[in-house]
Amino acid sequence: MKIMLHEMSWTEAKQYFSGSDIAILPVGSNEQHGPQNPLGTDHLIAKAIAEETAKRTGVLCLQVIPFGVSSHHKQFWGTIYISRETFKNYVKETCLALNYYGVRKIVIVNGHGGNLNALVEMARALREEGVFVSVFQWWPAASKLLPDVFKPEERGHACSEETSVNLALHPQIVDMDRAVDEKPRRQIVQTEGVSLPLDTADETSCGVFGKSTTASAEKGKKILEAVISELVKHVNMLKKAKIEDLMRKSKV
Ligand SMILES: [Zn+2]
Repeated sequence: MKIMLHEMSWTEAKQYFSGSDIAILPVGSNEQHGPQNPLGTDHLIAKAIAEETAKRTGVLCLQVIPFGVSSHHKQFWGTIYISRETFKNYVKETCLALNYYGVRKIVIVNGHGGNLNALVEMARALREEGVFVSVFQWWPAASKLLPDVFKPEERGHACSEETSVNLALHPQIVDMDRAVDEKPRRQIVQTEGVSLPLDTADETSCGVFGKSTTASAEKGKKILEAVISELVKHVNMLKKAKIEDLMRKSKV
């Protein structure tokens, strides 16, 4: 059975949507991930996790949306960034197009932390339209499920954890000879509890926020298996759940 929307014909899509009200949508970004990782890291990982989950659950998966909210990485070459509003509206309209065919439950697999605020706002707005959207991010899941595989300094942006997942998925586009370790710089006015409008270039010279040289495909495979199993669990629960139980409308 086909599971990717873009591989189906319209008659196959009709058949899926006639019997199912759930879909998976991966989103990510195209931004610097240190000298060793591909710019596509965030959307390529989201795509892989989403597609494997779709295969294991029989839930339809859309093509990945590759560009996200990444202007804070723009000083590093090749980062393609769009505004939060544009991203939010694009994802929202994609979800509403699914809703036109009866989809009421959507799992967004987000590969880039900078997209999260926009996605959460969008999910709240879609709830008002009767569409229930959950957002899954693999790295917070990984640190809960497998806290001991990486140390905190290996879990940051472009660090060993992310590099390991890349090595597990597509080693041919990772260059470990270029992997570096860099301790992020503290901004001169930074104190506890203060939020600053920082760009990545304010904090690192190479784009890696910690240690990346300890990455391995083996560790990446462990992480992938754990987060995909967790997402499969969520998708299966959501598949069974009734929309009325997910979103209570009546006043208490
Ligand atoms: Zn990333």
